[in-house]
Amino acid sequence: MKKSLVAGNWKMYKTPQESVTFVQELKRSVKNYEDRDILVCPPFTSLVPVSELLKDTPIKLGAQNVYFEEEGAFTGEVSAKMLKEVGVSCVICGHSERRNIFMETNEIINKKVKKTISTGMTAILCVGEKLEEREDEKTFDIIETQVQRCLDGIDNTEGLVIAYEPVWAIGTGKNATPEQAEEVHLFIKELVSKLFGSSSAESILILYGGSVKPENIDLLMAQKDIDGVLVGGASLKLDSFLRIIDYR
Ligand code: PEP
Repeated sequence: MKKSLVAGNWKMYKTPQESVTFVQELKRSVKNYEDRDILVCPPFTSLVPVSELLKDTPIKLGAQNVYFEEEGAFTGEVSAKMLKEVGVSCVICGHSERRNIFMETNEIINKKVKKTISTGMTAILCVGEKLEEREDEKTFDIIETQVQRCLDGIDNTEGLVIAYEPVWAIGTGKNATPEQAEEVHLFIKELVSKLFGSSSAESILILYGGSVKPENIDLLMAQKDIDGVLVGGASLKLDSFLRIIDYR
């Protein structure tokens, strides 16, 4: 049975000390689950102390970004090898904030996905349409282009997770309805089947992200093709993150 994944993206919130306090409480309060994995993605500066705390726990550590070169004169960047060495097992690639604020293109994201996977970590590739693209009925075209370009040159889905994050739902409080999300998840699954074969489509995890909260998690997770969630705002508070992890 494939495990689901509940991932928290802390964005640019929590100092190292705040991260440590949060994770200590999370460790104390979280239940043991056999059917789901839990991942926290703190800012870079918190990775080392959080990694220490997560040793010998089932909670995994993720990073929010990576640079695709091995090493070199790339001021301000962090390599995949550096992340791996401090205990990171997953990297969020192509989050819409990276695409829209930091102008990351599908081609750059493709390099990041490849570097993450070839370094032995899991890449969580984020895709999603903007509001005007949805209103112009371009959602499926946008998703197809993003998936194809970001996965160009990749020949299997090992080490790959896809997160469907409609841009209009991120940090806005407006989540996609479970039916809207399911429709796109099914489309992504069929696309994965076309690109990599039906067994990859069955085994890959497709997460939903966009204003996931305690109030909507159960209905989202009840959808057939939603295999987990990528949570921003609601992963910053212990109570709400615990309730989301504990979806029924
Ligand atoms: C995110 O950061 O990936 C996200 C989905 O944010 P939020 O849950 O706050 O919408």
